[in-house]
Amino acid sequence: MRIETLLNTCHKFKSFVNKKVHWGEYKGEQCIEIDVVNRKNSKSICSCCHKPACRYDKVTIRRFEIVPLWGFRAFIIYRMCRVDCKQCGVTVEEVPWASGKHTLTKTYMHFLSNWAKKLSWLETARSFQTSWQKVFNSVRYIVEYGLKKRDVSNVESIGIDEISAHKGHKYLTLVYQIDKNCIRLLWVGKDRTVKTLLRFFRKFGQPWSEKLKHVCSDMWKPYLRVIKKKVPQALHILDRFHIMKNINKAIDEVRAGEHRKLQEDGYEPVLKKSRWCLLKRKENLTVKQAVTLKELLTYNLKSVKAYLLKEEFYLFWEYISPYWAEKFLAIWCTKVMRSKIEPMKKMAKSIRKHTPIILNWLKAKKAFSSGIVEGLNNKARVVTKKAYGFKTYKCLEIALYHQLGKLPEPLMTHRFRIRA
Ligand SMILES: [Zn+2]
Repeated sequence: MRIETLLNTCHKFKSFVNKKVHWGEYKGEQCIEIDVVNRKNSKSICSCCHKPACRYDKVTIRRFEIVPLWGFRAFIIYRMCRVDCKQCGVTVEEVPWASGKHTLTKTYMHFLSNWAKKLSWLETARSFQTSWQKVFNSVRYIVEYGLKKRDVSNVESIGIDEISAHKGHKYLTLVYQIDKNCIRLLWVGKDRTVKTLLRFFRKFGQPWSEKLKHVCSDMWKPYLRVIKKKVPQALHILDRFHIMKNINKAIDEVRAGEHRKLQEDGYEPVLKKSRWCLLKRKENLTVKQAVTLKELLTYNLKSVKAYLLKEEFYLFWEYISPYWAEKFLAIWCTKVMRSKIEPMKKMAKSIRKHTPIILNWLKAKKAFSSGIVEGLNNKARVVTKKAYGFKTYKCLEIALYHQLGKLPEPLMTHRFRIRA
């Protein structure tokens, strides 16, 4: 079989002919070059209005890299034309295999972007003898295409979450669609302020926001304010995951403070390495952690009291009747207030204040599963932690859309399949 036959199967375009395939040299290395020419009597496409137009003259030769063949880098070599468009005047033509100034073909960008979902961007670059920048450009191309083509008209439930990025105290606000039939990342914004979330609602528009039925968020004040103002018709729910996360934060604070105090006072540091014993759920503990926990529970410590209060709080999620659930919350909060453990008291105050929206969780229980936001949050964390070599916020944003956005992808004449 000739290479031309192979190309005609997976890389064929109506007005062009794969004329000749030969060896070439690129940056000192042997490569495969494919000379492409215009088909006789065909018209070219105006890059301005995307309509056919007569060719005017020929300009520079460009090389477009395609998916490597047997480990050799391969290029389409084509002399670009200018067209005389009736509408736009003399412009450079548009070629079907490439987009704008990209030096990789659309297929190759699609191919790299697919691999970049499985490997880190650097690993992808190394595997296909290309650069990190080109992998990034490919992912960005696919993401921008997907964002333009996606349909967001069917969204009924959204979840708003924040994650910290770059180890420091920089935050990102993430908005997910959390409907049962579609779970995906809708939007990423820098920071977690009132302005951040307002930007989201401005982007999606008021008619869109008016159709929302559920909004799930945590107790972060700026979010609460914006949600109240922008989506008053939706059922606002404080998510189980976020509430438990906040209780865990309080426990961690108690533990850290108490650990320090024990050391200062010269006591045995019983709380050393106890962090996860107190934060994880019992069934998720390792054998070693379970032993440590059992031992810890015999001490009369604030950390232990806080832990037991948290375990008790899990009962709340089992309630079906909002009436009894509310009673439970009130009793739990009183107990916490009497415990004299400051971080936990703060938590109880906040729960008292937000009781109605916490109870909404019970009302909306059947609308979506409670683990969704937590699952998405974990995935987002993996994306931010993975060493993609993120240099800027923009990279992180694109990586998040790429991994979690479930974006539509351009249709290709030939699919390079990756087995999952
Ligand atoms: Zn035109």
